[in-house]
Amino acid sequence: GVLVVGSISADVTAFADRLPQPGETVLGNDVTLVLGGKGANQAVAAARFGAPTWMVGCVGDDAFADLTAGDLRRYGVNTDLLRSVPGPTGVAHIRVDANGQNDIVNTPLANGHLDADQVDGALAALASQASVLLLQLEVRAGITAHAAEAGRRAGLAVVLDPAPAVAVPETVWQHVDIVTPNESEAGLITGIEVTGVDTARKAAQWFLDRGVRQVVITLGGAGAVSVTAAESHEYAPFAVTAVDTTAAGDAFTGTLGAALALGLGSADAIRHAMAAGALAVTKRGASPSLPDRDAVLALAGR
Ligand code: ADP
Repeated sequence: GVLVVGSISADVTAFADRLPQPGETVLGNDVTLVLGGKGANQAVAAARFGAPTWMVGCVGDDAFADLTAGDLRRYGVNTDLLRSVPGPTGVAHIRVDANGQNDIVNTPLANGHLDADQVDGALAALASQASVLLLQLEVRAGITAHAAEAGRRAGLAVVLDPAPAVAVPETVWQHVDIVTPNESEAGLITGIEVTGVDTARKAAQWFLDRGVRQVVITLGGAGAVSVTAAESHEYAPFAVTAVDTTAAGDAFTGTLGAALALGLGSADAIRHAMAAGALAVTKRGASPSLPDRDAVLALAGR
């Protein structure tokens, strides 16, 4: 199974013809309220691909807590290891204009309460049932670092999606089995601008030098590159019509973790993850755009 340690949020999205100027009010034409947060999205992607999946994170004690935890369960994610803390659930406040341009205020709120004890308790409870630990950078960096080290010690394969690209303790990399940045994250973290396969390989070396075992850099509509000390592979993209790229990376990493937990080899796991990422861009929004197992298998072709 897959253990996800990370963020959970309510995504409140307002749609308008154009975004307001400072101090201005504009008339909107739609509002959606859905489960989001990179941790929760990746848990949903993993569960939908068919791996037993547990979410370790914090929600508040408000109406958004029921919405987010309820959606996680509805998608098949086990929520026994969620913690409810006093105060509000995390919220991402998103605005989108007619061209699909957006801006976002992402407020961690309850996500800031995730602590090392909760991570240790989850690992102790699940070390025999989970083989993959999925991490992102939307909870406090110290917690992600702690989880990577403790997860490695517990014998799990540690997969880190370094998104958003915030600073992390240098020591985290030696505990990471697979890192899955997109181009901009790889560039921000390594200082090597990534614009394609060649520069992706250079950035990958930066991670390998720091102890990461496998680097998979996603290149959006151009596919992905996987690099280990022994070999490097390019993966061609699946052709789809892009509608909204939100959660492509979460679909990718969640499905990658699930596929590995279910015993697929590295190359097959990456192909299924890419199919999930491609399908996610064909639909609007975060969690509602994550594909189910049948859709992923149909596109991946096996
Ligand atoms: P992020 O959402 O983190 O920026 P990417 O945009 O790199 O991540 O997308 C992750 C993966 O999803 C890519 O490696 C690719 O396989 C797939 N994907 C994303 N955008 C497209 C697209 N326009 N066409 C086909 N596949 C895509």
